[in-house]
Amino acid sequence: PDALMDSTQLTKSHKLENVCYDIRGPVLNHAKRLEEEGQRILKLNIGNPAPFGFEAPEEILQDVMRNLPTAQGYCDSKGLYSARKAVMQECQRKDIPGVGIEDIFIGNGVSELIVMAMQALLNDGDEVLIPAPDYPLWTAAANLSGGRPVHYLCDEQADWAPDLADIRGKITSHTRAIVLINPNNPTGAVYPPEVIREILAIAREHRLVVFSDEIYDKILYDDAEHVATGSLADDDQLVVTMNGLSKSYRCAGFRSGWMILSGNVAKQNARDFLQGLEMLASMRLCANVPAQHAIQTALGGYQSINDLILPGGRLRAQRDITVEKLNAIPGVSCTVPKGALYAFPRLDPKVFNIHDDEKLVLDLLLQEKILLVQGTAFNWPDPDHVRIVTLPWAEQLGDALERFGRFLERYRQ
Ligand code: PLP
Repeated sequence: PDALMDSTQLTKSHKLENVCYDIRGPVLNHAKRLEEEGQRILKLNIGNPAPFGFEAPEEILQDVMRNLPTAQGYCDSKGLYSARKAVMQECQRKDIPGVGIEDIFIGNGVSELIVMAMQALLNDGDEVLIPAPDYPLWTAAANLSGGRPVHYLCDEQADWAPDLADIRGKITSHTRAIVLINPNNPTGAVYPPEVIREILAIAREHRLVVFSDEIYDKILYDDAEHVATGSLADDDQLVVTMNGLSKSYRCAGFRSGWMILSGNVAKQNARDFLQGLEMLASMRLCANVPAQHAIQTALGGYQSINDLILPGGRLRAQRDITVEKLNAIPGVSCTVPKGALYAFPRLDPKVFNIHDDEKLVLDLLLQEKILLVQGTAFNWPDPDHVRIVTLPWAEQLGDALERFGRFLERYRQ
């Protein structure tokens, strides 16, 4: 009977064996069940601005609606000309040299482009250096594509900057690429140009493709400045920069992002890879066309995100209260995020007895109806961090973090 059972079970493909994306993992299913029972959950688990009252600029909505009648057909697989032109001009503003219309791919969010890029590049066993902690789609996409994610550590003591010695030590003859996430999710780190230059030098020496996920480039606090990786690279280095509308323009649901290839000499040598990307782009025909009409409007005009991040701005105030409340909990320490929408505090293992951070997050959900994501979901090696989304109003965040502090009491050694 067992054999009969086995042969009737539909199992997932082997390709998915090491693929995991725990931001929307098992704990979220518990949260959904509680919501179905009528409970209210404070969701500090996903960087989705709109449900917290961060709406897309009105001008973007108007332009998408105005263009809807002409957005009924498929477009070029790489995207609408007007959207790509706007991205090209953004490259000029960010000093990424030599980017032409054909070097830009519009996708259904950066997510689609990450998977596409990994599929186009990796052969079985090829290694990709990915930060730990990371935005876990990078790890999942490398695995899905037959590659092997190799995690390099970021150093909490150094404002979460990538550990260059660790990067160097992990390069092998199989390493094909390195991923930078700057500003970083989940740590909020914004990398100084010196660090980016050093990583580029390592990549150059070992002929690695550099992937730079810059989706939070306009969400910066205090004196932080974002420098595009592509602006510091040499002509003979291939840099693939990712960005999109989900965060800075608060329309994550539109699913609109772009990928830019820069490095003029490197592109000559990467024609085959480029053709691979073009083939994958054409297999899915094109990205959502109505949402592509938002890109030119978003990039062209007044950048309303600035009102939210400057002193007195809502996002800035929420970042501030998050750090303050976390650091007020004995045994918890939070490096100040200089960008993005998250805090990634450390729960000192000498103070707290936590062996399973997923269970910690589940207990918090069940007891306090607050949903966080465990640090290990971001490929962080130890169960001593959690990620908190800084999108709710400051008062709500402050209250939730005080409750988190009281909840942690029972884990104290
Ligand atoms: N990259 C990073 C670092 C992210 O944090 C996210 C979303 O949270 C994405 C990519 C995916 O963005 P998109 O909505 O464009 O697919």
